[in-house]
Amino acid sequence: MNNSINQSIKEAIELIKDSDNIYIVSHVQPDGDNIGSTLALGLAIKKLKGKVNIVKVDDIPSYLMFLPGVDMIKEQDITAPIDLLISLDSSDLDRLGIGKEFALKAKKIINIDHHITNENFGHINIVSPTSAATAEIVYDFIRELGISIDKDIATCIYTGISTDTGSFVYSNTSSRTHLIAAELLKIGIDAELININLYQSKSMPSAKLFINSLSHLETYLDDKVGLVSITREMLMENNAKMEDTEGIISFIRGIDTIEVACILKEMDEEEIKVSLRSKKHIDVSKICRKFNGGGHIRAAGCTIYEEISKAKQLILDEIISTFR
Ligand code: AMP
Ligand code: MN
Ligand code: MN
Repeated sequence: MNNSINQSIKEAIELIKDSDNIYIVSHVQPDGDNIGSTLALGLAIKKLKGKVNIVKVDDIPSYLMFLPGVDMIKEQDITAPIDLLISLDSSDLDRLGIGKEFALKAKKIINIDHHITNENFGHINIVSPTSAATAEIVYDFIRELGISIDKDIATCIYTGISTDTGSFVYSNTSSRTHLIAAELLKIGIDAELININLYQSKSMPSAKLFINSLSHLETYLDDKVGLVSITREMLMENNAKMEDTEGIISFIRGIDTIEVACILKEMDEEEIKVSLRSKKHIDVSKICRKFNGGGHIRAAGCTIYEEISKAKQLILDEIISTFR
């Protein structure tokens, strides 16, 4: 963490101490890092101030429902006063969905994130692209806040770090990541329980969707690019939900020849959520930026507002052109 980030953390803590109506917002299609960071900081602020409001902006995937404090994430009244809003793990205001309206109403915004594409939309921006997860930044933040990290907070931070590093496998994993994880284990988290919830609780419809979708794997450029499309029809056939696509893209990247893995999810007829992952060379955040998305070098996403076959062609053309 460099000096300017440390300084921003100090300023943010002063602001939290001086603010009354504090809101934390999750992002759309929340993941483990987003919910883990949100709950960890929410629990810490609750300890400090007795109260915190956490805005639910989207459904929470079932594999995260075991997290301590998850009931604190609720739909909130937009007409209430908002002195301070904290955004976690979101590169821009649009990723906050309905949370954007809360942000625009707030007197002050603290933006804590690790995406290189972060737009610094806060009054205070704590953006650290070298951190593997927003939860890593939150760990430092809570320590600086002077709140002891108990088992519940530690469970949420561990979940954020584990999910954003693919269980400490992705290239964003650093020595610092392991040092923080070691501290969390020392606090007494139940890592076995966390791991079973995160990685060994796939539902049967999800397993069926996994098998079905991978049987339609398409590859391009001598198997360097792998792509799967998930249509709403496929979800119906397998009795599955969009969140059940978790794990498919990592599997594709796991194939030895693959450099770029792509999954297209048909959220609506002309709303296609695209996820990209790369292995060693390609910066997929640059590709997603072309479609108003963003993310990291090795993991990024965007939404293309076209029908699925057209969206596929558009993203494939961009992927293929980056190999030239
Ligand atoms: P996903 O493929 O949705 O798991 O996202 C991969 C990474 O890219 C995550 O860090 C996301 O936060 C980020 N990301 C996904 N979609 C978008 C988007 N539309 N705009 C900005 N960042 C995104
Ligand atoms: Mn996220
Ligand atoms: Mn993250």
